Parts: sequence; structure tokens; C-alpha cells
Amino acid sequence: MKLRLNIFDFLLCLVAFCLGACSNHPSSERRDDSGASDQAIETILKDLTLEDKVGEMTQFSIDVLSVGKPYELEEPHQFDEERLKHVLLDLKAGSILNVGGHAYTLEYWHQVIKRIQDIATKEKKSGIPVLYGIDAIHGTNYTIDATLFPQQIGLAATWNPDLAYEMGRITAYETRASWIPWTFSPVLDMGRDPRWPRMWETFGEDVLLAAKMGAATVKGYQGEDVSDKESIAACMKHFLGYGTPHSGKDRTASYIPMRQLQEYHVPTFQKAIEAGAKTIMINSGELNGIPVHASKEILTDLLRHQMGFEGLVLTDWEDIKYLVSRHRVASTHKEAIKMAILAGIDMSMVPMDTEFPILLKELVEEGAIPMARIDESVRRILKLKFELGLFDNPYPKDEVYPKFASEEHRQASLKTAQESITLLKNKENILPLKKDRKILVAGPTANTLRALNGGWTGTWQGDEEQYFTKGKATVLQAIKDKVGATKVRYVEGSSYDKTINVKEAALTAKWADVAIVCLGELSYTEKPGDIDDLRIPEAQRILVEAIHKTGTPVVLVLLEGRPRIITAFEGLPKAIVQGYLPGNEGGIAIADILFGEVNPSGKLPYTYPKYVNNLLTYDHKWTDRYSLDYAYSGFKPLYEFGHGMSYSTFEYSDLSFSSNTLEAADSLDITVKVKNTSERVGKEVVQLFIADKVASITPSHKRLRDFQKIELQAGESRTLSFQVKAKDLGFVGQDNKWIAEAGMFEVQLAELRDSFRLVKTIVLD
Ligand code: BGC
Repeated sequence: MKLRLNIFDFLLCLVAFCLGACSNHPSSERRDDSGASDQAIETILKDLTLEDKVGEMTQFSIDVLSVGKPYELEEPHQFDEERLKHVLLDLKAGSILNVGGHAYTLEYWHQVIKRIQDIATKEKKSGIPVLYGIDAIHGTNYTIDATLFPQQIGLAATWNPDLAYEMGRITAYETRASWIPWTFSPVLDMGRDPRWPRMWETFGEDVLLAAKMGAATVKGYQGEDVSDKESIAACMKHFLGYGTPHSGKDRTASYIPMRQLQEYHVPTFQKAIEAGAKTIMINSGELNGIPVHASKEILTDLLRHQMGFEGLVLTDWEDIKYLVSRHRVASTHKEAIKMAILAGIDMSMVPMDTEFPILLKELVEEGAIPMARIDESVRRILKLKFELGLFDNPYPKDEVYPKFASEEHRQASLKTAQESITLLKNKENILPLKKDRKILVAGPTANTLRALNGGWTGTWQGDEEQYFTKGKATVLQAIKDKVGATKVRYVEGSSYDKTINVKEAALTAKWADVAIVCLGELSYTEKPGDIDDLRIPEAQRILVEAIHKTGTPVVLVLLEGRPRIITAFEGLPKAIVQGYLPGNEGGIAIADILFGEVNPSGKLPYTYPKYVNNLLTYDHKWTDRYSLDYAYSGFKPLYEFGHGMSYSTFEYSDLSFSSNTLEAADSLDITVKVKNTSERVGKEVVQLFIADKVASITPSHKRLRDFQKIELQAGESRTLSFQVKAKDLGFVGQDNKWIAEAGMFEVQLAELRDSFRLVKTIVLD
């Protein structure tokens, strides 16, 4: 750290020294002693030039430092030494992100980070280390051989926050092992529109489930101490309202009234902030006609003032420039920069050109942006660098990471995949299958790791399997491994959207005792994942119908990021298994479920739609149900939110309340007995729904208020207790504040129902 000290700074430093904070490398050991670390930040800040400061606020893609053109780097990756120095030394970039094209080996990541940090800390005047960020969203997916977990939608289907925590913890370990201290995860947008191509990156449609899983993930990433060699900083994304665009297409306009924003979109972020999340990324779309990157109301009034977020606010990819080219609220790049910075952006993910710091500097020099606004952002950036320990260790010195891609980590991923897989249908108990059967395996997702992992795997779109971990089992391979290759024949039948050899598949079905048909989607994310039709492509329907016609029973396995409509043929398969995007161990996990080595316990984290024009979430309003037959029958899902079968059977009884009324300050104990009435051990997710019977804002038909996942031995019963307080019954009222309104509430636990009364209305804010 090269600090140029004037006399004032010297005195300040002397004071700081007495506090133990002054050194060439202000120590991050004191990151929690806010006095000392704030002092160190101020000492650095004082010495920074405007160029240094705007540089700190700039994040470039690694493309800009590399040989080749942005998005088309030369292979193998190499730094362009001249560009590297220009970006780090002339432009003084505070942050770099991404991978050049595809995943790197652990060793290569070390070289990349070392080179960048050596220049930043040894050759740059300020000596401030670079903050490197990466999309490690289901494991460290840009490091070759890292442990890859189910994507978030699968994690949500486990209904087990401990597993989300474990995913976070292991991802943090393997990301730090790659010498990267910051991940752009978790996604806390709501998955309330199945058309949206990033639905699978969310924790599904329910706000309580998503908030619990999100907070657990953040804690897993950041650990007790984010500077620890096994922790990384989380980045909540994409604030706010990104997941429910009006058109269903990525990065298009959302229209969400403030009341709905507060009730359905804010809580996941709020809980993650309470869990300590250090950074946040902004929604690339527009909300009620205002691009979020230009919205002071969202970025400052809501996020800072109401929600109390103190960390770093990062743009999404190129989003300041898009204020000009896409959103058309600014006519020049410079005007767009002014809008975004004044709205509350701290750091711009530029990421491909070098104008941002130059124009930002001009804006400050012209007085269009006050220095105080710049200092505020730079303080937050420096603070995070301190907290991550980067001033002490821009990259690890002697730390080793023996558990990278270890068997222990693999087992954690396998367990998560096993708990996520959701049995949607099991007619005549065709599952579990016996291992002595002759099996046809068919379908476009049967023999590819792409369909197991989804986007952000090896590459952005997850479509280049040469960068995947070698030797991982597809569904086909895992079935062969389970029952012996001689009993299994594979005919693809159809690709994602084209028939290939359907006749051959049908012929082989005649030979087989059972056909396992794997349908769904191949990997995608963001814009390339947009679709015009939620129905699964015709070619896949044709394949199922042809195989079904032979009389051989069909077991359908779905591997898909969003619930593609399968209604036209859903009646044909005897069993349907939803795999979501279960990750590298997903093939094995699916085979474990199909052959009964694992008892399924996943539950849908969204409503599986039946019809294209009926895409309601489970917590819809009564009027949404009101139907053309004048009955309340208008909600017609194929499978309901929370649905998922087991090979065990569970019986619910003895629902009881500690009282029939709830006073404001008290809590109500709701108890229920759950019995495993089968002969095998099984897990059950006990879901507590409570709905207002009457309220000043039209009440939801149903609302998840709590849940517990339990394991019961064969024949075992357990009485579970849920403690309900008035705050658990809240909604956002007419003045946009949380209230719990006096009146009757209906409780629903499986098929059991009863009601109680909240005595007084309570304002919850
Ligand atoms: C995505 C973000 C991601 C960022 C960096 C964007 O296109 O929307 O989710 O974190 O790229 O890769």
C-alpha cells in the first residue's frame, strides 16, 4: 500500500496508529471495530485523487484486459499486458468480473488473480486491491471440477434451508479456493411467472419460502466472518421487481404497485439484509415506467432509508448505457451516468468499454455530481475490501483448500439433489421400479449434463459440455450403473424440438418392460431463454405418445428450468418425476428415486400450470378464482404449489390451537399430529397455510405462514407445534404499511382446517 501522506494525514495517521490502525496495509483484522476501520478508510480516502475514486467505482469484465475482442477472446486465455496496465493503472479499476468465455482451472484462476492483484497493490499508486466478482450461483460454476449443486429452484424444492446454507458454505469455500472473494448470488427475485427465462434461478413463487432459503444461502456464503478464508461476500440480486415482467420476457417492463412490491418483492431482500448480505445488484428492467437503475425512489428511498441497507450497490451488466440505448430515458451516456449515480449506484458493471470513469470524472469536475456522493460510494467499496481481508491478503498466502471438489462436497450436492426431486404422480405405485426390468431410456434430456445443470455452468449459457466436470453421470448413465447396462437401451427419439428416431424408440419400447422418457429443456439463461410458447415442444409430445401406444408403461422425468406445459399428454405416463436442474449429481439422484434407494421428499416451489392462459400463483385472490360457471373454480393448476408425493404415506390429525383467539402481544400454538402410515422411513414437509377470511385489502385465497421438514420412521407419529404471532399474519395495507387486521383466520394443514380470531388490528412496522 503506497500512501502519500501530507502533514495532516500524518497526524491523523499517528492517532490511528495509537488505535493500531495505521500501517501500509491497514489491517482488516479490525474490520469489526468500526472506529478503527472507518478511520483507516478515511485515511485512504483523503489521499485518493478523483481519478482513483471514479476508478474504484468502475467494474470491468476480464474481456477488457485480455487478448482478443470482447465476447470473442482468443484461446487459450491470455492477458494483454498493455490493456491490463491501462485498466488497472490508468483507469484504476476497482473491480473486475467474469470469466473469459468459459471456466478456468483452479491453477489458472490463481494466476489470473495474482497477476491482477500484484499490479493493483504493487504498481498502482493507491495500492488498493481489486475486488474480483463472479457468478458462482450453484457452486463455483466457473472453476473446472468444482462441486455443482442443484440450481436455486431445486434448492427451494427441498424446503430445507439447512441445505441452502450448506450449498452457500461449500460454494464459498470453493470460490475462495479459486481466490475469488465475491459471488453474484443469491437471486432473490420472485419466481412468480413461469414464462420468465430465469425462473429457475429463483427460490420459486412463495415469499416466505424464498426469504428463508435466501437468508440461509447468504449466511452460508458469508459465514461468521466474511474475511475468513472460507467465506465470500454475497450479492443479492436483482433489486427490484425483475422476476415478473409483464411480457414474461427477460429485461422487459414490470408494472407492480408499491403495495405488491412491499408485500411480495421486498421481503426476500429484507431478510437477506438482516442476514448480513454485503452487496446488491440492480434489476436491469424498468418498473412502472422507470428503469430501476435511474430510480432514486427504489435505490435510495426504499433500499437505504426504508430497508436500511448499508452495503454496496452494483449495476447489472452495461445497465447505465442501456438507459440510453434500451430504456431511452437519457440521450447521452454521460447523462445516464449522472442519473444512475444520483439515484444511488455505487459501482458500475460497465463492463466492456472504458468511458464510464472518464465521464464520471467530468461530471464531478463540472459540479453535476457532488464529491460527497462519490465519497459515499468509495467508502462502501473500501469497507467491503477491508471486510473481505483484501488489504491484508489480496490473494491467499499459504492457505490450502484440500476439500475443493472433495467427496464430502459431492455428497452434500447429492443429498441436496435427492431432497429436491419431486414426485408429481405415481399411478398404481409404478415407482419405485424393480431393478430386474428391461428399460428403454429416451428423450432429449436423458443423456446430457446440460439438462442437469442449466445455465451458468462452465459457460454463461451452460451449453458447452467440454467445460463440465468429466465423468459425471447423465440420467442414462446413472440408470445403467444402477441396474446394469445390458438391461438398458437408449434411443433419443427427439431433440428438444425436433423428432429424430421416434419409430425406433417405439420399437425398442416393445422390447422394454418400462420406458423412462426424459423431457424438458436444455440450458439457457437471460435473453436467450425467452420463449413465445410455454407448452413443451410438439416433438417431445409425439415421442411420449408413440411410446405410450406400444402399451409399455411410461415414467416421465422432467428436467426443466420452468414448468413447461405438458397437459396434452400428462395423462399418459404412469409416473412423473420433476428433477428441475439438479446439478452434477442429479443423474444419480434421479436414479436413486426411480429405483427406491431414496424416498422422494421434494415439494413444488411453484404452481405447475395446466393451461397457457391460467398462470395464477397459489396465493391468488378470490376474484382470480371466480369462473365462467359463476363458481370459485377458476384456478386450475396441473399440480399445486407445495405438491410432492413420497413412497411413504402420511396422515394428519388432531389439529388444535392453544386458544381460539390471539391477542396482540401473545402467540398462538398450533399443533398437529403427523403419522407415517407406511412401512418405510420418509420425509414430509408440513406446510402451515393461514388466510384472512375478511380484510381491507382483498385477502389471498391461501398464504404459507410457516413450514417444517421432518423425517418419520415407519409407523412413527409426531406432534408438531407452530407458534404463530400477529406479525406472521400481516399484509401490506392501504397506506403501504404492514398490518395484521383483527378478524377470523382460516388455518389449513394438509386436509385439516380450523379458524381462530385475532382480537385487535396491529400495525407491524
Ligand atoms: C446478469 C446477472 C449477472 C451479471 C454478471 C448479467 O447479465 O443479469 O445476473 O450477475 O450478468 O455476469
